Amino acid sequence: MKCSLCGREAVYFKAHSGQAFCPRCFKRVIERGVRRNICRYKMLEPDDRIAVAVSGGKDSLSLLRMLHKIEQKFPKSELIAISVDEGIGRKREEDLRRVEGVCRELGVELIKGSFKDLYGVSLPEIAERVDLGPCTVCGILRRKALNVLSREAGADKLVTAHNLDDWAQTVIINLMRGTVERLLALDPRPARIHPKLVPRVAPLFNIREEEVALYAYLSGIGVSGENCPYVRSSMRYRVRLFLNRMEREHSGIKYAILGAYWRLKEAWKVTPKVRECRICGEPTSAEVCQACLILEKARG
Ligand code: SF4
Ligand code: ZN
Ligand code: ZN
Repeated sequence: MKCSLCGREAVYFKAHSGQAFCPRCFKRVIERGVRRNICRYKMLEPDDRIAVAVSGGKDSLSLLRMLHKIEQKFPKSELIAISVDEGIGRKREEDLRRVEGVCRELGVELIKGSFKDLYGVSLPEIAERVDLGPCTVCGILRRKALNVLSREAGADKLVTAHNLDDWAQTVIINLMRGTVERLLALDPRPARIHPKLVPRVAPLFNIREEEVALYAYLSGIGVSGENCPYVRSSMRYRVRLFLNRMEREHSGIKYAILGAYWRLKEAWKVTPKVRECRICGEPTSAEVCQACLILEKARG
């Protein structure tokens, strides 16, 4: 198969659009898509101090490389990387070594935090003591950690590497849980909701996971051979398998789910109500934030 743009040997066929791409054109198309998202949705400003949440997986390292390339054209912008160690052992240690290597190579400042430093307990210690799924605990505590670390670093935006597959999974999970308001409060575009909440953006939100994986491979980004020990325990894992199977049988369903999410957002405007947690003072929708509730239980 030949590249639809230059005629070289193709490595990727995009069933949705019927186009094939060689490695060079593929990378350009992905980077153009990310740049377009950033401009179209006003995700970043030319003089932003941009914090990138980098776990060390293929998505976040690809995003860091893309943003580094894009931001070269904006000399007043600044890129920093934020990584959080949940204490899940060998996988995260390997990932963080990779993050350090890429940050060194790109000359990007890396700010590291850990559950142990921030909360006094690691994820496995909490998971043993509370009856919530480890991924639920991890998501809540990591979200808070990233906000605190990027705010303390003076960031104007916090960029996350959530891709199309992540968004489609999130839509389905929230529908299955009946948490429609929570779903509609999410947005890949920036919003100033509370002075203590660094606006989050997700420039990969409409790019497929397999495309980000190929981008990472073609960019020489290695992936960890280890998995998080909790990965199979989450609802997200099962929804991911389900959506991948459905996508093989009905090409384009992940885009369709994203389209439905946009239409729901249009039809049903949700303005998140945010106040400060009575215990930690961090932004939350309830009197006490979910992180404090979890930590109270974990500490006994
Ligand atoms: Fe956290 Fe779950 Fe991901 Fe492991 S699989 S890093 S526990 S969200
Ligand atoms: Zn080409
Ligand atoms: Zn709190």
